[in-house]
Amino acid sequence: MLKILERGYEVEVKILEDVMKANDQIAEDNREMFTEKKMFVINLMSSPGSGKTTLLEKTFETAENIKFGVIEGDVRTSLDGDRIARYNIPVVQIHTELFGGACHLDANMVKKAWKVFPQDTNIDLLFIENIGNLVCPAGRSLGEDKNVVVLSVTEGEDKPAKYPLIFRLAHVLIINKIDLLPFLDINVNEIIKNAKAINPKIEIMELSAKTGEGLEKWITWLEKKATTYK
Ligand code: MG
Ligand code: ZN
Repeated sequence: MLKILERGYEVEVKILEDVMKANDQIAEDNREMFTEKKMFVINLMSSPGSGKTTLLEKTFETAENIKFGVIEGDVRTSLDGDRIARYNIPVVQIHTELFGGACHLDANMVKKAWKVFPQDTNIDLLFIENIGNLVCPAGRSLGEDKNVVVLSVTEGEDKPAKYPLIFRLAHVLIINKIDLLPFLDINVNEIIKNAKAINPKIEIMELSAKTGEGLEKWITWLEKKATTYK
């Protein structure tokens, strides 16, 4: 028999609400600052290994007319930051373990990262690559314009149902690694159905960051967003 633990921790819930409120205030300041810089900002979220950094690499190779910048979040290492820097893209790496081992980025980390960002670069579009985690990055605003969630087809069809908040807040869902579909027992329409059940307005793009299949829709979307404040 399955038993489910009911809620009953009001005190802890209250503390979390205060933390979130403080975060939202800093996120508002960040957003104002970014808009003033005429920069469109995307909070890129997913589980570990779903292909966020690979998607960024493919994007930089393809969308040559957009001036990109990146704030890169990882618990430790600058492996992803190094990959981005190879494309001559200005990038600041945040190591969240310096801030208490956090498994998510918050608005204050982004504010600090922006302070050391090369300010002479005229960026159209800033990506903030969040920590690989479908739970706590959701609902922690960083000052972004749009939330983009990447889900690899290898992760299964049930993820939108299991992690509803992040899918509810996502403007775009990228279903990545479609080149692997012939080897998997996964139905993409099931993923789409589950995502739409949580968020009917979510825009869905199916692609392979590795092969470039389906990438046009994403690039066209980015090109439009990059001129938002111009
Ligand atoms: Mg990465
Ligand atoms: Zn966390």
